[in-house]
Amino acid sequence: MNETVKSLSARLAAGSVSAVELAQDYLARIRAANPVLNAFVELNEERTLADARAADALRAEGRAGVLTGVPIAHKDIFCQTGWHARCGSKMLESFAAPYDATLIARSRDAGLVTLGRTNMDEFAMGSSNESSHYGPVRNPWAHDAVPGGSSGGSAAAVAAGLAPAASGTDTGGSIRQPAAFCGITGIKPTYGIVSRWGMIAYASSLDQGGPMAHTAEDCALLLNAFAGFDEGDSTSLQRPAEDYTRSLAAPLAGLKIGVPKEFFGEGMSDDVRAAVNAALATFRTLGASTVEVSLPRAGYAVPAYYVIAPAEASSNLSRFDGVRYGYRAPEYGDLADMYAKSRAQGFGEEVKRRILIGTYVLSHGYYDAYYLQAQKVRRLIADDYAAAFAQCDLIIGPTTPTVAYGLGEKTDDPLSMYLGDIYTTSVNLAGLPGMSIPCGFGAGGLPVGLQIVGNYFSEARMLGAAHQFQQATDWHLRRPKE
Ligand code: GLN
Repeated sequence: MNETVKSLSARLAAGSVSAVELAQDYLARIRAANPVLNAFVELNEERTLADARAADALRAEGRAGVLTGVPIAHKDIFCQTGWHARCGSKMLESFAAPYDATLIARSRDAGLVTLGRTNMDEFAMGSSNESSHYGPVRNPWAHDAVPGGSSGGSAAAVAAGLAPAASGTDTGGSIRQPAAFCGITGIKPTYGIVSRWGMIAYASSLDQGGPMAHTAEDCALLLNAFAGFDEGDSTSLQRPAEDYTRSLAAPLAGLKIGVPKEFFGEGMSDDVRAAVNAALATFRTLGASTVEVSLPRAGYAVPAYYVIAPAEASSNLSRFDGVRYGYRAPEYGDLADMYAKSRAQGFGEEVKRRILIGTYVLSHGYYDAYYLQAQKVRRLIADDYAAAFAQCDLIIGPTTPTVAYGLGEKTDDPLSMYLGDIYTTSVNLAGLPGMSIPCGFGAGGLPVGLQIVGNYFSEARMLGAAHQFQQATDWHLRRPKE
């Protein structure tokens, strides 16, 4: 199945397929492919078909919207009634949320049909999906390669045609990087556009949910459903509703693209460089101009991110204590021992590493040296972007320095895995919107992602530029062999 949200929406509207038929088709594909890919961690056919029947009923009553009956896969980080929310962790193995995250409620209100819950790095900490307690996900383009992370299950599901679209979350690249590794499109909106209510927190000042799909147009349709003010999230922005599809048809003549020279330096592999340069040439043929810009402090994004994100994580994850949520050690002595054993047994290695780092950088005597310093760097990085956006409308470069690497290749070397986040983390630190679109293939026939970063609230412009690129190229139409 090679379809987009847009094409499925048209078929549903024309009555040539029902939501129930679509759901059954996708579920059959998932059943066939998931034993190998491991993209889904939970399926519940009865619930999926109930959603689909409700969508068909709405349509019969003439109350269908553009997304009514379209199937979607949700990342296992969003609380959703009737489903588990395990967040890739043993800690939440038996947790089922009694309420819907706002993104889930909005999906449901739009008539989207939940196909299942997608695999992810534990508590969204990772870049390869290998920190999941529920096993790694395989990249549909090469089964011995990682799909990226932490939204690796969502990316693999879309790439393999097991879902036309999926939700993801992005704290330091977790929508864009797996989108790049799996050859799909994904957007992390401006911080505060999509509510974090019910989205299990990793690093609250960086976390942002968003859509993943084949095309920019599909992402725009989904963002229309996901975005909006929510009083359940104190950082949700109160802004007039936007139609994110409004600039899809806008021509690119006059568009100024900033190309940050720091993103083309050491560490970038030749295949990625070639594909990104070719994409920039395509944008020029479409009427855009390119100008070199500088993000002089971009090199500090990874160290600043890997101080701030673990600091916030160490605080957010203190709630998992064996009392209120999830796993409790079966045997323990006193209360402190119960906390210690529950956390020691419930969390995996990467999560423990982050909690240790986070606690360390927040502790007395180190706070000023690490945490406060990282916050200052964060501000300077945002200043660099502001200066760059005085010279251009969008910033375009690579999403990742290399294409997807092999399963197991970096699991023993966390630092080298962290360095793969070099182009994505600065965007979260600045709170800016960023997206990744497919722009070619590199080593091993694996996809290359192009990152588009916009100024605050420029999602429609970014999606428009990406859509025009996708009208002129066919990278987003390529599919892995089944
Ligand atoms: N790879 C980054 C990390 O491990 C980003 C993860 C994310 O965006 N959730 O923290």
